[in-house]
Amino acid sequence: MITKLDHIGIAVSSLEEASKTYRDVLGLKDHGVEVVEEQKVKVAFFPVGDTEIELLESTDPEGPIAKFIEKRGEGVQHLAFRVDNIEAALDEMRTKGIRLIDEKPRYGAGGARIAFLHPKSTGGVLIELCEREG
Ligand code: ZN
Repeated sequence: MITKLDHIGIAVSSLEEASKTYRDVLGLKDHGVEVVEEQKVKVAFFPVGDTEIELLESTDPEGPIAKFIEKRGEGVQHLAFRVDNIEAALDEMRTKGIRLIDEKPRYGAGGARIAFLHPKSTGGVLIELCEREG
């Protein structure tokens, strides 16, 4: 069902500041910045090998990333696994008794269809399932 680690999501207070580490220190290149209104975030993806680093800055003090940083500080916020069929993956998670944050897939950055599993069901790690082309 899972085909790869699609990306690692990192909550940051400033996309511009945090990008310096990935761009200038680590020498990675991003695809540019995208705003995802629905999730109240501004994101930048840095491909690295077969996966990517996603930096997320909140666009709203009430947004999930702002709340995460308030509680736990900046840092790794979620792991995203690529799936071929997100509806089937969500059904399987339900069958396995996993608590879902998203009962239905929603749209994420880059036109991906995504859904989050509740960290209470997954050992404290926020897991995103992600279906995308290519
Ligand atoms: Zn993500």
